[in-house]
Amino acid sequence: MAGGNAIRGTRVGAGPMGESERGESAPRRRVSYWCANGHESRPSFALDADEPESWDCPRCGLPGGRNQEEPPDAPRNEPYKTHLAYVKERRSDADGEAILAEALAKLRAQRGGTN
Ligand SMILES: [Zn+2]
Repeated sequence: MAGGNAIRGTRVGAGPMGESERGESAPRRRVSYWCANGHESRPSFALDADEPESWDCPRCGLPGGRNQEEPPDAPRNEPYKTHLAYVKERRSDADGEAILAEALAKLRAQRGGTN
């Protein structure tokens, strides 16, 4: 029966985020967003403000959506993709192979010609 109450008693209004958990000055509501990785973020908005359709996940940076079942797709801008990967992504696999074969043929023709 010692110690615990003293700690509770010292609680000051403002939390680490600069806003108190209880007794916020303006009424706010929390809106849940889910990213493609299943992270939930719950930013709060003023009651009279419209919440945005998407909210960037603070954990992985992917855009989050209001629908947990269908989160928005991750943007396709991974920096380490090669040009060939982009080509293959935009076309069907058959087209990609044709392009690759064509490129190899040209390469062989060039090498054959300069040799
Ligand atoms: Zn996430």
